Order: sequence, then structure tokens, then C-alpha cells
Amino acid sequence: MISITSRDLERHSLERLQGLQDEVNRLVGYEAQVAYAKSSWSRKPAGLFTGLKARLAEMCSGNLRCVYCEDSLADEIEHMRPKDLYPEQAYVWGNYVLACGPCNGPKNNKFAVLGNPLALMDITRKRGAAVVQPVAGRYALIDPRVEDPLEFLWLDFRTSRYVPNTGDKASETWIRAEYTINVLGLNKRDALVRGRKCAFSGYTSRLRTWLERRAHWTPEEQQAFIDDFRMERYRGVWQRMKRYRNGVPALNEVAELIEVAPEVLDW
Ligand SMILES: [Zn+2]
Repeated sequence: MISITSRDLERHSLERLQGLQDEVNRLVGYEAQVAYAKSSWSRKPAGLFTGLKARLAEMCSGNLRCVYCEDSLADEIEHMRPKDLYPEQAYVWGNYVLACGPCNGPKNNKFAVLGNPLALMDITRKRGAAVVQPVAGRYALIDPRVEDPLEFLWLDFRTSRYVPNTGDKASETWIRAEYTINVLGLNKRDALVRGRKCAFSGYTSRLRTWLERRAHWTPEEQQAFIDDFRMERYRGVWQRMKRYRNGVPALNEVAELIEVAPEVLDW
């Protein structure tokens, strides 16, 4: 998981979103707003979804990879804050990312906020429970549009598993990191753990290739190599390799390679 660069939506689409959000907000009562947000979304307002998806696709890393797992094709508009809990954010541009089905499906309407004093409060609405407004609080899920997941999620390069970027279990960083890892299944899914391991060795061998071949390549060949490098999945692994290359034994070779090819830091 890495941060993504938010882009503005063109005015016409923003106005359509606002119009749909107004329809939700105009209804009297929270329960009615939830019901309408869900039903109107499922009708997929004509034309709007195509434009939203295209814009969100520009924000994805690599070759249109899911913002959460960085592995699979991102092809579903995901509400980070579920419309089932926050109907007032059903049509808010800043609440959308493009994710894959295996991430979006299990996450579904799960959500949590932070209580005061600091504690995780699961506000997922159980089946059959009364539709009432969730308790207020700061969101537990890391928002890659406005926050940097590297500040929260450390990657253990020996196990290829994410761990909180702090040892302080009472801290907000630890609680939010643990929640995000668990709700998205970032360590539970073996394919993702294996994928990060392969990405680590893949990025390392590409670096070796670059060092061996760059002097023999034309500028066009060099550019093609760089373009391909940037299309790799698991960009988050590469970002962490760069950031933590000094001081982590598993990254000694990477540090040495980057030392003689510092241009790769821009990749
Ligand atoms: Zn995913």
C-alpha cells in the first residue's frame, strides 16, 4: 500500500456528484439516506461511472494496480468510508479509490473509528441491526489519498509481511496500521505475501540489469527499461526498498546498487 496522487475531477462530473449527494442529503432521517445512497449507487448513474473510473485509473500505481493490495487489476470504485455507514459521503470524490474485487469484497461495509480515550471501535453494522448513525471518531483505515501509508506500514523484508511502523501498541499509528492490515487482509492472503517477496527480488534483479546494461543501451532503450520498471506491481515494495535501504541488513545489496546508480531513486 502506497500513497496515491489525488487528481481533480472535471467540473461537469463534480456537479453531477454534488447533485446526487444533494438528493441523499435532502431526505429526512438517517435510515432513509442510507437506503437511498445504496439504491441510487446500485443503479450506476449513466455515464458518470465511466468518467470516475477513468480519473481514478490515472491515480493508480503501476499498470492499473489496486490501491490497497497493489497486486490485482483495479476495476471497482471503492468507497473508503462505506456508504452504508456514511451516506453523506456516497457521492464525495475524495472518498473514492479504485480497488480490486478481492480487496473490495471482503472489506465491504467493515469500518472502525478511534475512540477517546484512544481505542479502536468497530462500527460495522451487523446484519439485522438498527440503522443508526455510527459513533463519531477519527477514521481507523489509512486513506492513501491524503496520508502516506509508508508512515504507518513497515515491510519486514525477511517475511514480506507488513507490520506497524512503531513498536508502541498504545499509539494511534500502531492501532491504525493493525486495523488496515487486518481489514484488507494484506498479510492473511498468501498470494500477496508471495507477491511482495517476488517483487523484492524482481526489483533487485532489474537494478542489477540496469547497472550491467545501461552503458550499452541507446537512450530509447534506457527509457523503455525505465518505463517498464515503473509499470511493475507492488510499487510500495520498491518505495520501501529505497527509503529503508540504509540500515536494514536485507537491503544491503540494494543500497550498494543504488549507490552507483542514484538515478534510480526517481523511478
Ligand atoms: Zn486489491
